[in-house]
Amino acid sequence: MVALRIRPLSEAELEEGATIIAHKVGDQAVVLMDPGEDPEDTLRAHRSRERTFIFDRVFDHHSSQEDVYSATIQHLVEGVICGYNATVFAYGPSGAGKTHTMLGMDAEPGIYLQTLTDLFQAIEETRDNMDYSVSMSYFEIYNEVIRDLLNPSSGFLDLREDSRGSIQIAGITEVSTLNAQEIMQLLTRGNRQRTQEPTATNKTSSRSHAVLQVTVHQRRRGRDLAEEVHLGRLFMVDLAGSERASQTQNRGKRMKEGAHINRSLLALGNCINALSEKGGRAQYVNFRDSKLTRLLKDALGGNSHTVMIAHISPASSSFEESRTTLLYAYRAKNI
Ligand code: ADP
Ligand code: MG
Repeated sequence: MVALRIRPLSEAELEEGATIIAHKVGDQAVVLMDPGEDPEDTLRAHRSRERTFIFDRVFDHHSSQEDVYSATIQHLVEGVICGYNATVFAYGPSGAGKTHTMLGMDAEPGIYLQTLTDLFQAIEETRDNMDYSVSMSYFEIYNEVIRDLLNPSSGFLDLREDSRGSIQIAGITEVSTLNAQEIMQLLTRGNRQRTQEPTATNKTSSRSHAVLQVTVHQRRRGRDLAEEVHLGRLFMVDLAGSERASQTQNRGKRMKEGAHINRSLLALGNCINALSEKGGRAQYVNFRDSKLTRLLKDALGGNSHTVMIAHISPASSSFEESRTTLLYAYRAKNI
């Protein structure tokens, strides 16, 4: 599933005199208008000045956090407690609203908290004949290096493959709290530890992918002592800003970051594309191209669901970024 969220025009965009060029049409379409086209330009005059993109769902400034959650992720929660995997990505340029969708604020919590709340409730409802244990970790991938956002002083962490071939992060902090408020505090604090550095276009753009990983172990209490154990994993990923290195006039360190980010977003796009091809011939999917895709290997292939929520600003000043974001998301649409 691929959804699109168009955030409201910001104060700053209004002050700059930006106009709205991205319009939601119905529940599934967005029309993007090219603000730069000169109607006098006869060579281009017969070309359409607008382009329509269709997604599974489109949200705009009328949509609440709850609307976005219930139309995209909510139905996956049941599956996770039954042992299925699911992955949610927030994709888009810096400032387009990814962190708002995933983390949100105390008054308007995002997908992280809404998902966990429903997960705990679903577990509570089936507790009579099942045993569950839930654990959660929150980390970032920055320049192909993994850092624990719940314990940033622990340095760089490595990926390990366990005996069953599933990928784990060695030494990561795992929390198992059932208290929503506590979780929000942990995540908000963790989010402040993310690698955010100034670029030419944004004061704080996230240069890292932030991943909230939730693992649910389910054990059915049988009459005999032979137990059935299921493992469900949910990844919720706030991706690094997708703006291109060239657009942010980056040099040196920023350039290298840009290259890593582009590479991992490209690897992700390629995996999603390869998986979406008929039959999902996993042998052609190259998960090894980046840490992000290596880590998500189990979650992207096999018995899993993937949701991507692409984000754009509606402003005329963001036309190029919005166009490339819509194209990337559109390409991923056959998941
Ligand atoms: P990103 O994580 O993609 O860089 P943010 O989520 O930090 O972007 O959003 C940038 C700014 O816009 C923040 O101040 C955020 O609160 C605001 N914002 C983003 N999306 C929305 C929305 N749907 N409604 C209201 N404000 C939003
Ligand atoms: Mg962000």
